[in-house]
Amino acid sequence: MTSHVRDPVATDDAKLQLPQRWSAEPCPQTSGRGSLIEGYLEQVDEKRRCGSLQFGGIDPVATDTPVIVVDRLERRFGQTVALAGISFQVAAGEIVGLLGHNGAGKTTTIRLVLGLLAPHGGTVRVFGFEPMVDGERIRQRTGVVGESLGLDERLTARELLQVFADLYDVPRAVQAQRIAALLEQFGLAEVADRRVATYSAGMRQRLALARCLLHDPELLLLDEPTATLDPVAAHHVRELIAERRREGRTILLATHNLDEAERLCDRVVILERGRVLVEGHPQELAAALGVPAQLAVEVEPELIDIAIDVLTRRSLAAWAEPEPGRIIVERMTRRQVPDVVAALVGAGVPVYGVMLRTPSLEDVYLALHQRTERR
Ligand code: ATP
Repeated sequence: MTSHVRDPVATDDAKLQLPQRWSAEPCPQTSGRGSLIEGYLEQVDEKRRCGSLQFGGIDPVATDTPVIVVDRLERRFGQTVALAGISFQVAAGEIVGLLGHNGAGKTTTIRLVLGLLAPHGGTVRVFGFEPMVDGERIRQRTGVVGESLGLDERLTARELLQVFADLYDVPRAVQAQRIAALLEQFGLAEVADRRVATYSAGMRQRLALARCLLHDPELLLLDEPTATLDPVAAHHVRELIAERRREGRTILLATHNLDEAERLCDRVVILERGRVLVEGHPQELAAALGVPAQLAVEVEPELIDIAIDVLTRRSLAAWAEPEPGRIIVERMTRRQVPDVVAALVGAGVPVYGVMLRTPSLEDVYLALHQRTERR
């Protein structure tokens, strides 16, 4: 029988960004409260105290201008290099996934985009503004859901949204209607007057998403919004995110969930140890990295060994694995499918079904991971 060892995947050189320049900019204080959402709220609080948080009068950006432009961005924490010069862009109306292992730099990137941290090199522009200079203008147009949701457990959902509507200076005349609409849209209308302390993880996540939309932001920064949810709740939240995309909002989504990224994202940026390993549409990445398709061929269970033998002898399969009632043939292209079927039928192996499975984002991710491990 053929070896079942997966062939190493032929890949182009990954997009590795080396540190290009270091700025002399002083490192600002990081948020005293720590989490992304709390840091964000601290900034909103501060602007509110100073009377400088305004709504309306948003500076227009040309639609062909990317909403986010990250260019050779660097950030360290002491000796730890969190970002070693990453570059990527997010166009208006796109959902871009930020993927990577724990500690890859996803949250740090979001904090830099929001102006909660200063870069140590490179630049970031959001709506054409520099977050450390014009963070307030960016935050007026940006909704954030961090890993830590920062919901006050003592409040009901309605009260919480009311507090934040005031904080965001949502005009009084539209507050009640907007809050009611968000509660309805996020499936929270019936529990709106219950305390957040009684909510499930899924309800809290939906409330956090509703809250981040109170000021009708164009850009959403979502840091692992489904990480703690069960499959049904995660599915619901993904649908809500997809709806925001259909509304025309731009979304940067940090996630570990490859399936989620593949379903939701127009493009993904895969980070590894503070560098961009690769970026693109999952299918384009698969093609660029040479991640092959798989063919599942349904045959009689007792003819599986013969089928594998036929395919390997005729060099139609470099690698094939038996599964109950079928064989999985690796490294297939669409053009090879008729040859595989003809060879099997010609050898007296009836074929009951074939299915060509294109590479998933998980295949791409694993291929990249294998490659970096070999380095
Ligand atoms: P995760 O998936 O676990 O949330 P991540 O991709 O979001 O990880 P970051 O939180 O951005 O990664 O962290 C990148 C690196 O920077 C890690 O090595 C982390 O330990 C370090 N780091 C991040 N924030 C700080 C901080 N405030 N102080 C010290 N080190 C930090």
